[in-house]
Amino acid sequence: MLKLKNIQTFYGNIQALKGVTIEVAEGEIITLIGANGAGKTTTLMAVSGIVPPRSGEIFFMGEPITGMEPDRIVSLGICQVPEGRRIFPYLSVAENLDMGAFLRNDKSEIKRDMEYIFDLFPILAERRHQAGGTLSGGEQQMLAISRALMAKPKLLLLDEPSLGLAPLIVKKIFEIISKINAENNTTIFLVEQNANLALKVAARGYVMENGRITLTDSSKNLLANEEVKKAYLGL
Ligand code: ATP
Repeated sequence: MLKLKNIQTFYGNIQALKGVTIEVAEGEIITLIGANGAGKTTTLMAVSGIVPPRSGEIFFMGEPITGMEPDRIVSLGICQVPEGRRIFPYLSVAENLDMGAFLRNDKSEIKRDMEYIFDLFPILAERRHQAGGTLSGGEQQMLAISRALMAKPKLLLLDEPSLGLAPLIVKKIFEIISKINAENNTTIFLVEQNANLALKVAARGYVMENGRITLTDSSKNLLANEEVKKAYLGL
């Protein structure tokens, strides 16, 4: 479904990605793990078109999307939930969700999808008239994921959904990520520093160090890998 081929990205003179190759199959959850500053966010930004690579190619459903404008990439069915949530703080929960559906005009389906989201996250239903900025961090993460779902993405890019959240909330959010994947066949590309959790929800993983993929394997094998254990699982 998604293919990154030898992606190189620069911020001025700093090379953040040094030839990244990743493949994601339709319907799977894959994770990209790595330390702070390894280049994980930059990889997602290359896919969503926000930080276009200097060289390399990206294909989505067989079509080249390298260098395409972010709004066109969204319209093809790729939606990113950025690190730090970035919901609209002064809009209500319901208005935030409406914003996620701005490219759609199938009104009755939009309504149905909003109900589906309220089933996934009942707390958002309770708070539908409340301003987004007044929600807790965990609720804002739920809203950010939900807003992306309102675009009906084929591929969901999640950047550090666990960041700054209490373990119980993180567990709940990861359960919902699995559910979204299982119930809608939404393909999920998950970037996480919390490797332990990420490898439990994903079937496969990539390990990134200093702008390079250093290892890729099934999550099961990565969880058992001695180097991964030492560097990322704190074991
Ligand atoms: P984190 O987990 O902290 O988000 P990351 O693995 O997502 O880290 P990136 O944010 O992709 O890493 O950063 C990769 C490299 O690019 C780092 O060295 C970072 O300092 C640099 N970088 C990222 N964004 C910019 C920017 N806007 N300008 C200059 N350098 C940047």
